[in-house]
Amino acid sequence: MGSNDIPFLNTGIWNGKLFLSGWNTAGKAHEILEPATGSVLTRVGMATPEDAAEAAKRARAAQAAWAALPYEQRAAIFRKAAVIIERESDGMTQWIVRETGCIPPKAGVELHMAVGILNEAAAMVTQPSGLVLPSDGGRISLARRVPHGVVGVISPFNFPLILSIRAVAPALAAGNTVVLKPDPHTPITGGYLIARVFEEAGLPKDCLQVLPGGADVGQAMCADPNIAMISFTGSTGAGRSVGEQAGRTLKKVTLELGGKNRLVILDDADVDLAASCAAWGCYLHQGQICMTTGVILVHEKIAAKVTELLAGKASHLPVGDPATQQVALGPLINERQRDRVHGIVQDSIKQGAKLAAGGTYEGNFYKPTVLTGVKPGMRCFEEEVFGPVASVVSFSSEDEAVELANRTEYGLSLGVISASTSRALALAARIPTGLLHINDQTVADEPHIPFGGRGSSGNGGRHGGPANWEEFTQWQWVTIKDSAPRYPF
Ligand code: NAD
Repeated sequence: MGSNDIPFLNTGIWNGKLFLSGWNTAGKAHEILEPATGSVLTRVGMATPEDAAEAAKRARAAQAAWAALPYEQRAAIFRKAAVIIERESDGMTQWIVRETGCIPPKAGVELHMAVGILNEAAAMVTQPSGLVLPSDGGRISLARRVPHGVVGVISPFNFPLILSIRAVAPALAAGNTVVLKPDPHTPITGGYLIARVFEEAGLPKDCLQVLPGGADVGQAMCADPNIAMISFTGSTGAGRSVGEQAGRTLKKVTLELGGKNRLVILDDADVDLAASCAAWGCYLHQGQICMTTGVILVHEKIAAKVTELLAGKASHLPVGDPATQQVALGPLINERQRDRVHGIVQDSIKQGAKLAAGGTYEGNFYKPTVLTGVKPGMRCFEEEVFGPVASVVSFSSEDEAVELANRTEYGLSLGVISASTSRALALAARIPTGLLHINDQTVADEPHIPFGGRGSSGNGGRHGGPANWEEFTQWQWVTIKDSAPRYPF
């Protein structure tokens, strides 16, 4: 990796280790494979459910002292962490590109977002945390936000840095301590980069524990009595199981799950811009984004033209190893995902969809694909693909567009493209969604916005901006009297 020359990201720091009260050798080591080449990138420790219990116990023991640390010291840690990411961004870019299989600009987005999230966390420390309520008899009555205790964060492989740090940073800023379990495909980007950054920024020991591990470790965290809240980002299936398990110990749970996002293109749209939006929304990071445009609903008057332009783009976008070539798309995360994507494409063609571009692969590199004539019932219409597949559905009226857009259990992101913003807004008002983009595609995020979805895309939780207070703290009612009263008893 060449990173042995970079002291900050030297693989020797984490080789075979967990970040459990600092760097500690694990019982079991785990090799991280580079999705573009299949070669071994690095080795980390693989946590067990027992490690999760130990980490939660230590994080709980550290929480009160962390929350009581002077606010200036806490804010300074987040500011310093942001500066470290900016300083180390070249080395971090290499790790993100090679571990997640992304193009360098996507790594840049992750780093830029991480810096923004850390600065938001620094600011959160000095934001007002409560209300003064009316009360009789000279009593002072306050409602204030207090931390939950220990927050367990479980994150996926696709945008690992953002999806981990968007929960870790505000949870810590609100006075919680954290146990983070990144996906076993991406423990460096989703875990150890964050551990290194906070270690150097001066976060006290035990406030953050990072445990690469599988679903068994995630389940153990959901059941652990020392963990008060779970912030989960991942698939809807795993999210259901997290919700069930956490429900037994009555934890607060925030679930950010899958999506099958609609891009609706009305008949008055500019076809060039619409095709460009569709290509970006479908193919960015190989379609492995929860907000990926999963279905393109386009008016029948312009459907042929938009499809032709989109297929032209798909056929010309270069695909290859983003660490060594200048490409637009890198590899899918592993062979299993590639086979799943290909199975959906093949089945959809059998079900009547037409292939207008792509549909083939080499290694983990899947060609940008366009399917047209897509109808409800076909796999590419019904399922989240998590691959570079554009599914084009045509409609003849706005009512039909709304009906087709609403034929999904998900509700994460919606884009509507039209020359008339009022027309687009009126149509969008009939489609439930957590994120709405008028005259844009479906993929967008910023550090200070409340991010999340409806329906099977989540449980109503949000990450970011004002939502962080709702998620990572709970209300405490406090009354204060000068002296205790005498009651009739
Ligand atoms: P996944 O659900 O397989 O894994 C996500 C994380 O959960 C991993 O850390 C994994 O080890 C862990 N996990 C898996 N099963 C578990 C269980 N039963 N209990 C506890 N933990 C468990 O998801 P993935 O395939 O890695 O990621 C892709 C999915 O994530 C897609 O569905 C995508 O839409 C979704 N996603 C959602 C958002 C969002 O903010 N809504 C963002 C990115 C990805």
